[in-house]
Amino acid sequence: MILIQNLRAPLEHDLQTLLNLACRRLQIEPAAVKELKVLKKSVDARDKADIHFVFHLLLGLEDAAAEELLAGRSNAEIYAEPQPPALPEAPKGILRPVVVGAGPAGLVAALILAKAGARPLLIERGRPVEQRQRDVAAFFATGRLDPSSNALFGEGGAGAFSDGKLTTGIKSPYIPFILKEFAKAGAPEEILYAAKPHIGTDFLPKMLKGLRERILSLGGEIRFGTRLSGLVLREEGLRAVWIESEEGAEELPCERLLLCIGHSARDTFAMLRESGLRMEQKAFSIGLRIEHPQALIDRAQYGEFAGHPALGAAEYKLSCHLPGGRSVYSFCMCPGGRVLAATSEEGLLNINGMSAFARDGENANSALLCSVEPGDFGGEGPLAGIEFQRRFEKKAFEAGGGRFFAPAQLVGDFLAGRESRAFGAVRPSFAPGVTPADLRACLPGFAAQAIREALPQFARRVRGFTDHESVLTGVETRSSSPLRIPRDQISLQSSIFGLYPCGEGAGYAGGILSAAADGARCAAALLEAAQNSSKGRE
Ligand SMILES: Cc1cc2nc3c(=O)[nH]c(=O)nc-3n(C[C@H](O)[C@H](O)[C@H](O)COP(=O)(O)OP(=O)(O)OC[C@H]3O[C@@H](n4cnc5c(N)ncnc54)[C@H](O)[C@@H]3O)c2cc1C
Repeated sequence: MILIQNLRAPLEHDLQTLLNLACRRLQIEPAAVKELKVLKKSVDARDKADIHFVFHLLLGLEDAAAEELLAGRSNAEIYAEPQPPALPEAPKGILRPVVVGAGPAGLVAALILAKAGARPLLIERGRPVEQRQRDVAAFFATGRLDPSSNALFGEGGAGAFSDGKLTTGIKSPYIPFILKEFAKAGAPEEILYAAKPHIGTDFLPKMLKGLRERILSLGGEIRFGTRLSGLVLREEGLRAVWIESEEGAEELPCERLLLCIGHSARDTFAMLRESGLRMEQKAFSIGLRIEHPQALIDRAQYGEFAGHPALGAAEYKLSCHLPGGRSVYSFCMCPGGRVLAATSEEGLLNINGMSAFARDGENANSALLCSVEPGDFGGEGPLAGIEFQRRFEKKAFEAGGGRFFAPAQLVGDFLAGRESRAFGAVRPSFAPGVTPADLRACLPGFAAQAIREALPQFARRVRGFTDHESVLTGVETRSSSPLRIPRDQISLQSSIFGLYPCGEGAGYAGGILSAAADGARCAAALLEAAQNSSKGRE
């Protein structure tokens, strides 16, 4: 097929418009085209008087031989579809690998291992997504937390109740494969070509069930309500793992373990430390979530075109470096979304955001985060960052008044340094509920100060950003893992031979797609090591 890049199209267009535009570029008749596919679609809103789409298109001609000729003489090229790296097959008689955690990293790792014939066992401490949806809905309604089934734990991991954004800064040869598998499993087709793809919290459960069925159909096994609780080591590395479920504790022979536990498995990190696994402190960020009417963001970003049905809800991405050396940036913006408690421990509150695929809610929300360095933790050892997070999560829980209500404040009051008493035109979307408060008391002083300094700078880029009645909710402490589990750069194994630290919790990813890609990479490394060992080369 012929690849045509950077084709400009008006907001109102259909496939016929795109075909005509592409044919005009190639100087051919539309009748010569057998197939038209959209490879990438993005919005160009740099000039608010001239907002338009930009497409990369693939054209298949009736006369296939003519494609090369045409590509040669036009501003086009023959398209070579990127292929994922070839995966080694699992050696015969391999002791089944164990994957811990059914977040994006663990699911994709288990899928790859199952495809290779390794019959992986995937264990997940939380529940299947259907039950998890009911548990999370009950939590939003009552504020009663189930520590093993919540917005962080359960099938789908931390990303199941999210906007399902699939944007990432990393480059991985596994990304096209992962996006295809996600779409096959039930994610919207649009993720295959949108420049900023998202799945939406309403499509995520369908996709997760699809992935589960695929892993099972390829010979994998999944045990929910099952927690990794211990490691059994021998001199050469891993010999077995302890797992716990309602049925009790069980020792399971295991020589290769993919550890995909996310950033919130604090009890598991403590167990791993006791077992002697090498871990180290890592920088992360802390902050608040800001909410505006989506219509305000649309107006600021799209001007006259705000509300155009082809554009959908507008996004923003902001960052600034402050004179004191700190950075503040917007993170995980959820257009037309809501704010939620993403928490897994009693008495500790951490928040985040989510949206439906249509992104059609009343408010836009985004985290505003300030960087935190290990020097800020005020403690020694690899778990000091977790203790730092806990300190501020506890303050937020208490300022909210219990039942996982969150402390919230008007932007105007935050900037003026006074407690809020009530809310105005912007209705806080947070579930279970909010309590007016002074958020400065829930943040480290440097972070509160940095966010206060950054807000006016952001208002210069997004008009209305600091409107008095915009709402801030706190606190967001788990933007990424506060620790890293070092691994060998080639074998990807940790200080314990046979244990592969993987995904966000181990410090190697910062979102759904990067965690999934790391899962793929670690699964491939595990298969390669198993192959080598079966040939006596490990
Ligand atoms: C509300 C919310 C919204 C988000 N929105 C986005 C977004 O739009 N786009 C984006 O890219 N990222 C988003 N993120 C971040 C994203 O979800 C994470 O980066 C990603 O899920 C990390 O994947 P992971 O597989 O490494 O870990 P996780 O998804 O955290 O999965 C870890 C899994 O391991 C399980 N587990 C932990 N310990 C054990 C144990 N001992 N035994 C068995 N199982 C265990 C947990 O229950 C969990 O299911 C969001 C996060 C949250 C909380």
